[in-house]
Amino acid sequence: MPDFYIEPEKKLPVFANVDVLVCGGGPAGIASAVSAAKNGAKVLLIERFNCLGGQGTTGLVTSFMSMSAFTGGRQVIRGIWEEFTNRMVEMGGCIKPPQLKERKPYFANNRHEPDTEICPFDPEVFKLAADEIMEKYQVEVLFHTYVTAAIKNGNEVQGVVIENKSGRQAVFAKRIVDCTGDADIMAYAGAPFETGVGEHNGEQVKSPVSTMFCVEGLEPDTLTWQVDKELAYGAVNLFPLMRDDEFRAEMTRVTGIDPCNAAEITKGEIACRKQIPEVVDWMRKNLKGAEHAKLTRIAGMMGMMVSRRILAEYKVSADDILNYRLFEDTVAMNAYGVDIHNPDGAGCELYWLIPGHAYAIPYRSLVPLEVENIIAAGRCIAADGIAVMATCFATGEAAGAAAALSARQEVPLRNLSVKCLQQTLKKQGVYLGEEEPEVPEPRYIHISTI
Ligand SMILES: Cc1cc2nc3c(=O)[nH]c(=O)nc-3n(C[C@H](O)[C@H](O)[C@H](O)COP(=O)(O)OP(=O)(O)OC[C@H]3O[C@@H](n4cnc5c(N)ncnc54)[C@H](O)[C@@H]3O)c2cc1C
Repeated sequence: MPDFYIEPEKKLPVFANVDVLVCGGGPAGIASAVSAAKNGAKVLLIERFNCLGGQGTTGLVTSFMSMSAFTGGRQVIRGIWEEFTNRMVEMGGCIKPPQLKERKPYFANNRHEPDTEICPFDPEVFKLAADEIMEKYQVEVLFHTYVTAAIKNGNEVQGVVIENKSGRQAVFAKRIVDCTGDADIMAYAGAPFETGVGEHNGEQVKSPVSTMFCVEGLEPDTLTWQVDKELAYGAVNLFPLMRDDEFRAEMTRVTGIDPCNAAEITKGEIACRKQIPEVVDWMRKNLKGAEHAKLTRIAGMMGMMVSRRILAEYKVSADDILNYRLFEDTVAMNAYGVDIHNPDGAGCELYWLIPGHAYAIPYRSLVPLEVENIIAAGRCIAADGIAVMATCFATGEAAGAAAALSARQEVPLRNLSVKCLQQTLKKQGVYLGEEEPEVPEPRYIHISTI
């Protein structure tokens, strides 16, 4: 049995030649593609699954942590996220925070967070709204397609290789936005990146993984998840869906999985799924109001909080977040605090920001070191664990606009006029921190969950 195989040289047909290519159709990819199209670019969006939404749809992460966007009655993430969620509300598939207390009072009463912090949505409505917004802004979408390699000339990325039912093809683009969550295209292109959540005894610590699932038959008025019995995996995390008796559970957890290794991902998927019937049984026996819980759906992909993140000129750190830092090159705002999932087992360390206050994400954190023509958005930007879905929309909107402007002006992404980008984003309705109030003491709220 040989150790390797040398592929014969092969002429690949060219599938497309576009201004902006967006790889990955999760929250960041949706906003990137729309934003680039709004700025006049011919855009192609490539996604490996059959729908847009990434973790939000295939991964069943069915609620925006909207405290990232709405904080203390102020909305700090606007732009395309607002347009998209308003459309989902019109379609009957989303509840915004101002209506949540009224529509789901049991949720607000049951949680320990300082504000009404989530914005539940129906993942099927999300898929429909995402198809619709692509059509509205004339973004070409290609599903069932994996991006497998970068095409480079020196340090310039000029396109990618894709694989799907039609075989292997090439796509050329003036600019590429990496929204794969795992910085796949950056890694193929040789851009430097980091993984994991720090080091312990010289070994890299991997963030835990979790497969979401949904249960029906819960009684919301009596349901309580403040239990003193410890669960074997994760925390007791239940999130409302559109129906009152159906909830999304984030209650499986497996540690030590490498999110960029297919064999390990497979191991993680099977191990997480195996926990689900056990957790549902635990809920029936231990959670008041969940005695009749019945499994309804399991996510089509395991959730991975932290994977590859690019190295950039600036990395947004926990210190920046807890100090509400603003930057001259701010291109997105966020009010989500620091959320560290215990890499050794159950529980989370949460540092919530004071409601009404937010911090900034600078343009420099989206532009990778060493390679040109490519920019990151979503959970693979240079930052420590700030990527919840509304934030990914915000960085996606910034990266998409930057890619379109840089292609049109024929200026490298790292030399783009940030002033011009900021003006463009403001015209799109993006808030860039112009009205941030003074932060009071104490400056954050620390919570440890079981
Ligand atoms: C356990 C857990 C709980 C969470 N809870 C919440 C929550 O309650 N609320 C919240 O707002 N956020 C939550 N998050 C965070 C949120 O899900 C992610 O941060 C967000 O989905 C990241 O968006 P993204 O677009 O960067 O990446 P993703 O959502 O991961 O999307 C990436 C997309 O790229 C595609 N893709 C990847 N590689 C390729 C490739 N090579 N070729 C083609 N396509 C590719 C994928 O199929 C996917 O559609 C949670 C995350 C985890 C792990």
